[in-house]
Amino acid sequence: RAKQAGSNQSHFYSDQLHQSLLERAILERDLRSALVNNEFRVYFQAMVNAKDGSLGGLEALIRWEHPRMGLLFPGSFLGLAEELGLMCEIDQWVLHTACHQLQDWRTRYPLTDLKFGVSVNLSAMQLQDEDLLDSLKRTIDLSGLPAGCIELEITENVLISNPHKIASLLSAIAGMGVRLALDDFGTGFSSFEHLKLFPVHILKIDRSFVSGVGQGETSERLLAAMIHFARTLGLTVVAEGIENAAQADFCLLHGCHLLQGYYYSRPVPASDFESAFIAKFAATCVN
Ligand code: C2E
Ligand code: MG
Ligand code: MG
Ligand code: MG
Repeated sequence: RAKQAGSNQSHFYSDQLHQSLLERAILERDLRSALVNNEFRVYFQAMVNAKDGSLGGLEALIRWEHPRMGLLFPGSFLGLAEELGLMCEIDQWVLHTACHQLQDWRTRYPLTDLKFGVSVNLSAMQLQDEDLLDSLKRTIDLSGLPAGCIELEITENVLISNPHKIASLLSAIAGMGVRLALDDFGTGFSSFEHLKLFPVHILKIDRSFVSGVGQGETSERLLAAMIHFARTLGLTVVAEGIENAAQADFCLLHGCHLLQGYYYSRPVPASDFESAFIAKFAATCVN
């Protein structure tokens, strides 16, 4: 009996393996055609000014509207996209779409004192792309958006492979007026050296630290110290993953400039973002 159960089990595992290989093959095939089939979407999540809750920025986040599987999150396909060498094209598309969307809002609404920009995530692969600087320039020119309205988010882990080469690339990008944010701060191979070497303007404190509010004195002190640290360096501090009022209050109290999280809004399609944030913001500007 035991033997039988054992063989059933291995059968089960190989079925499962076969299933997942099959799924991967299908996903791979679909991913290769997703861009031309226009299946990617850019969702936007608000960043609000900690002081008054007004709109202070927005982050572009990719989604994949799969024809059969429905809406897929980046965690389920970006890894594969990277393996397949599709990341640069995808990120370029996101940047293009996000810039055009913001410029469209700027022209359709009387946002004369619209100071914020759109943040776009940059993958490690893009930083290896020789064409990045030129394609960035082209995208910005084409969109008509001032370079100062564009922020690129990078994680610390992308900086460690070839720090000096990447530092000069990022300096060139910053020289164009584009602002740079260090994303998921505190989770990667954090090094104080990074902040000396790279022209970073914004520090985004990872939500794993923000969730420390109410979780004990050590967690709270750590979060407070991170905020103070970033402020001391003259950086704009963003707290990621704000899910409740206690977290928002804590981050405001300790000097975060911008707050981002489900407490304010989930990432939503452009049309929803427009009615929930842009139209309201425009109305307050007119007054
Ligand atoms: P990220 O850049 O750190 O983006 C923040 C992630 O946290 C987003 O997940 C967002 O939906 C989620 N989030 C925001 N507020 C909350 C909250 O209050 N609670 C919780 N639990 N989560 C919150 P998402 O959209 O699934 O993206 C995951 C990651 O995928 C991003 O992390 C980013 O690293 C990457 N990513 C997303 N879009 C792109 C893209 O266009 N290009 C590249 N290269 N990477 C992207
Ligand atoms: Mg990000
Ligand atoms: Mg992040
Ligand atoms: Mg993250």
